[in-house]
Amino acid sequence: MKFGGTSIADAAAIERVAGIVRARFESSGGDKPPVIVVSALADVTDRLIAATRLAEDGDVERAAASLDDLLARHLSIASALTTGTRRDDLVAAVREEFATIIGLVRALAVLREISPRSLDAVVASGELASSRIVAAVLAERGVPAVWIDARTIMTTDAEHTGATPEMAQTCARANEVIGPLAADGHVAVMGGFIGATAQGVTTTLGRGGSDYSAAIIGACLGVDEIQIWTDVDGMLTADPRIIPEPQLVRQLSFAEASELAYFGAKVLHPSTILPAVSKNIPVRILNSLRPEVSGTLITAEARPPDGRLSAIACKRGVTVIDITSTRMLGAHGFLRRLFEVFERFKTAVDVVTTSEVSVSVTVDDTRRLDAIVDNLRKFADVSCEPDMAIICAVGENLRVDQTLFGRAVTSLGRVPLRLVSQAASRRNITFVLRDADVTQAMTRLHDEFFRTVAVT
Ligand code: ADP
Ligand code: ASP
Ligand code: MG
Repeated sequence: MKFGGTSIADAAAIERVAGIVRARFESSGGDKPPVIVVSALADVTDRLIAATRLAEDGDVERAAASLDDLLARHLSIASALTTGTRRDDLVAAVREEFATIIGLVRALAVLREISPRSLDAVVASGELASSRIVAAVLAERGVPAVWIDARTIMTTDAEHTGATPEMAQTCARANEVIGPLAADGHVAVMGGFIGATAQGVTTTLGRGGSDYSAAIIGACLGVDEIQIWTDVDGMLTADPRIIPEPQLVRQLSFAEASELAYFGAKVLHPSTILPAVSKNIPVRILNSLRPEVSGTLITAEARPPDGRLSAIACKRGVTVIDITSTRMLGAHGFLRRLFEVFERFKTAVDVVTTSEVSVSVTVDDTRRLDAIVDNLRKFADVSCEPDMAIICAVGENLRVDQTLFGRAVTSLGRVPLRLVSQAASRRNITFVLRDADVTQAMTRLHDEFFRTVAVT
């Protein structure tokens, strides 16, 4: 059971989570107790990153003050929800965690340089503190919870701020540490998102990575279900921040969920589905504010064909790069040369379309864009267009119902489309358009496919 930041935002939310876990623990009769993975409290990761930026600017007092504020927030929740020596121990542990990072941030403010490695050390404190609090609150409510330092389990490479888990070591550790605890009827509680290299240096898996942590731990332990508890009812037919009343999607295939997560459905980290697929473990998205709703169930099987799309996602702030060269005419090896440039600068390409003499690609990571363009210009004309977006309409039904593609394109009317693509899987249609047109395009697509009919 993974609980995101908003599910543990404050004392009331943590109480609610404790109730959900306790109910689940009791219904298991102590047999197969749940394993709990938590994010940092809502906004804490953003605030920790902001504090390191202040330190980088040399503004040590504001950085320290903002960390003091965060400490006070954690302490007030810890004190409100626990009592006696458990409270004393929890308060001492949280204080110590923050004392360490306040010391670190002060040191970084002197150097005025934040490396990815030191950023990870600071940011990890969010999940370390929240997981300690949740474990103590569960114990206070009579659940036999045991806190685990996630860094002793999640083993990763040293690619700080976006580390890749080493599956074999992580699974071995999970089975060594959590396996016996669970067999004894204990509920293990750990932070998501964080890990450590084999040498013990703290790392993080990238923003939103707690979902991924939970899926990895679930796959390692061979659980019955991986549950992602969040602040919406499940995967919705569109981002609720863009479409005011999207509908709940009750069932999705692994492949559909992966596409949606990759193309912007923030409710799932894009890597979450991979570990689940490897062990064929169902993933369920649930709402901690409405635990009675059955949520979205994600499994290997697609739902039966019913002539509808499953959901629409969008990824904003994308840049289109157009690469044109007459040397491409009938030439082999051109594409290899072109994509080698992206490989060299470790930049992922999302959408690709080609014509006889030109290739257009989209990227969302523009940190190395200048170098990429310089290198492409050695053999082609290159132009870039920022402020674009990708809309991805997803549905297994696209494979069986040939009319859906036409309906999708037609529904967009006069919205100018820059690129359109449908890959061989035929599970999605991808539109690239101006970011400024996203709301209009999403609204049109959503009206076409989801307005009048209830999703079943
Ligand atoms: P958590 O803190 O639980 O990890 P996130 O903020 O990462 O929560 O993800 C949940 C949010 O994802 C929702 O509140 C919603 O605004 C956003 N979201 C974007 N697209 C979708 C979608 N298609 N379905 C559900 N939620 C979505
Ligand atoms: N706390 C981390 C973040 O905000 C990880 C997560 O919430 O999944 O990105
Ligand atoms: Mg999330």
